[in-house]
Amino acid sequence: MIIGLPEALSYAEQHNIGLAAINTPFFEGLLGVIDVAERSDVPIILQFAQVHEPIVSIEDMGPAMVELAKRSSAPFVLHVDHGFDIDYIRKGLDIGFNSAMIDGSKLDYDENVRVTREVVELAGERGIGVEGEIGVMTGNENGDPDQGVADAALYTDPQVAADFVKATGVTALAASFGTVHGVYRRKPKLNYELIAQLREATGVPIVMHGGSGLEPREYQECIRHGVRKINYYTYSAKAAYDACLPLIEDPNVILFSNLARAARNAVAEDAQKFVDILKATA
Ligand SMILES: [Zn+2]
Repeated sequence: MIIGLPEALSYAEQHNIGLAAINTPFFEGLLGVIDVAERSDVPIILQFAQVHEPIVSIEDMGPAMVELAKRSSAPFVLHVDHGFDIDYIRKGLDIGFNSAMIDGSKLDYDENVRVTREVVELAGERGIGVEGEIGVMTGNENGDPDQGVADAALYTDPQVAADFVKATGVTALAASFGTVHGVYRRKPKLNYELIAQLREATGVPIVMHGGSGLEPREYQECIRHGVRKINYYTYSAKAAYDACLPLIEDPNVILFSNLARAARNAVAEDAQKFVDILKATA
């Protein structure tokens, strides 16, 4: 079934857990995440990011995501991740997505407020939640290992974040407090106090991007301080890849479908661990 982002976030608040928000730009990943949702009791956010268009388009993958989520007994939010313009987000909503992130973080502050408000207005007409972003998060959603490092100068200022939420009316806020997209080259320096300050100042749940590769207790500390949605892609896609490697080297395996099944199982196993870690704070 499909539920709204606000509903999923308030479930997370009530139960003091974090929600897994997993990108599924390949079908086996989608199946694997749905397998996990059907044996868990928490909502899962299925995401499609605009930067994944070169892999598969939202027109092709989106309807499969929406249809399988509808058909399932488990609760899902269908979320457009890192939409860079309102047209792309509208496209996602027309397909059946019911939540969206507008990423105006590369724009200057006023322009970010303007485009984010536009999306909130569009969403409001359809009764759905919007995630905005303020601050700079380096790396990218493609697991690029040549990422930058989040240093203190890039951390989101709580007062700016509060003004931004007030000016835009977003449901949740992606902010910089030490995580980066992609694979961690060195240990991230998470600022838990800053998360608490952002949560307090903005009054909305905080979203973690670059949620791959932290230690379980690091996720749990972030959740305790106000993070409710944790975006996850790199390690999920890597789990699928790692599961395929030995099969590729096995001369007895000659069909891609064998890899597809291994990828689905690997994504499910990885996602199950992730969901369990995010629930362990309760
Ligand atoms: Zn992100």
